[in-house]
Amino acid sequence: MEFKEFSTYFDPDEFLFEEGDPGECAYIIESGSVEVSLDKGGRKLVIATLGAGEVLGEMAIIDNFPRTATARATERTKVTAIPLDYVGQKIENADPTVRLFLLLIMERYRDLLSRLSHVFEGMSPFELDAPRGDSEDNTTLELKSVMAQYLEMQKRISTAVNKPSSKPEKISIGESTLQDTKILVIEEKRLKTALRNEEFRLHYQPIIELASKKIVGCEALVRWQHPSGKLFPPSRFIAQAENTGLIINLGYWIAEQACSFQKRLNDKFKQPLFVSINLSGKQFEDQLLIPTLANIMDRTGAAREQIKFEITETLLVANPELANKSLNELKETGAKLAIDDFGTGYSSFSYLHRFPFDTLKVDRAFVSAMLRNEKSNEIIKTLVNLSHDLGMDVVAEGIETDREADLLEQYNAEYGQGFYFSRAVTEEELIKLL
Ligand code: C2E
Ligand code: CA
Ligand code: CA
Repeated sequence: MEFKEFSTYFDPDEFLFEEGDPGECAYIIESGSVEVSLDKGGRKLVIATLGAGEVLGEMAIIDNFPRTATARATERTKVTAIPLDYVGQKIENADPTVRLFLLLIMERYRDLLSRLSHVFEGMSPFELDAPRGDSEDNTTLELKSVMAQYLEMQKRISTAVNKPSSKPEKISIGESTLQDTKILVIEEKRLKTALRNEEFRLHYQPIIELASKKIVGCEALVRWQHPSGKLFPPSRFIAQAENTGLIINLGYWIAEQACSFQKRLNDKFKQPLFVSINLSGKQFEDQLLIPTLANIMDRTGAAREQIKFEITETLLVANPELANKSLNELKETGAKLAIDDFGTGYSSFSYLHRFPFDTLKVDRAFVSAMLRNEKSNEIIKTLVNLSHDLGMDVVAEGIETDREADLLEQYNAEYGQGFYFSRAVTEEELIKLL
């Protein structure tokens, strides 16, 4: 997604947002000027006038609280709007420690603001008059007055600071809470134990043939069933597993589970059903990756041609030579290969013919933009045709509506995956769907 897409104009006197509004975007002012004000008992208190290059409205999108001020364009103003979704996703995927600190700083900042406004609200013009003594000169009076104000202010601050603030308990960023984030920071060290204690689970999201609407396979998606009862999505721990090297063993555990499941599907159903397994770039640093995967496929009795490994572009960009060698070796095992999230990163069409992929997975971002944006339609059509020309089939990811499914079928995408068909479910639930 490019920021260019988010450019927009405000006319003079038009509000960018008003106090109490939900925080939907932050703004970078490109040209023009914006006045930021607070409403103090019906009186407008201007707190800032911002111009080109300045940023506003970022707080509400970091912690998802309503606006605490009003912003109005004072002339025709061009801004870049950065939507909540865009930032929310980035914060969600950030390292848990970074996310925790960001949340804590926001919490403290909000708290301080609410206490300060408490102090100022309580001050009346009356209190600016200091007590008078007959024999004092003007300088002493002035000094006393300042001192009295200072002491009063200090008293108010200390009362306010020691008073429990009325902030809500949960700070929410998407579905995350401060509590969850704290658990994860503490538990990062425990990821290894989690693998030993068998706390990871594989869920499977069906992949559907768009023309027949039949399930033809599924993608294995890992979750962490934490002893606290919470089920953590991979965005919360895959990066840590990669950084700590745990992804190597976790990856083998995932492959083993997914291949055993494929074998059970073969035993139970006549029609061939494939299972897709995500491989992270880090796993390719393990020299034994490919022989170990081949061994897992054999040991579990999975049909190799019904196992598909999904790889993202990051691996190809970071180390094209290693990627080429590894992917060719992986392909020689008889398993299939898919390029995942195509179109999000550094996507280059040159990857498509340089590497031996069988499937291209069109990223959810294109599918969800399809109904809003003509360009996304064109991109998907072109991608589907190009994939076919290069001998690949296409899976469209993140289908959420029947309209999207219909359009993708019209564009000749063979397969689809998304909440419209089903979320990722347990093995037992998937079998019921078949
Ligand atoms: P991915 O490979 O792109 O997986 C698809 C993600 O999109 C899944 O999220 C899935 O639940 C979600 N999704 C599917 N359909 C829809 C839809 O219609 N709408 C929306 N909004 N989302 C949809 P999940 O399970 O949270 O996985 C996130 C990512 O974590 C995966 O993205 C993949 O990159 C990584 N991951 C998951 N499992 C594994 C694994 O076993 N190994 C490795 N290395 N990475 C994994
Ligand atoms: Ca995937
Ligand atoms: Ca994907």
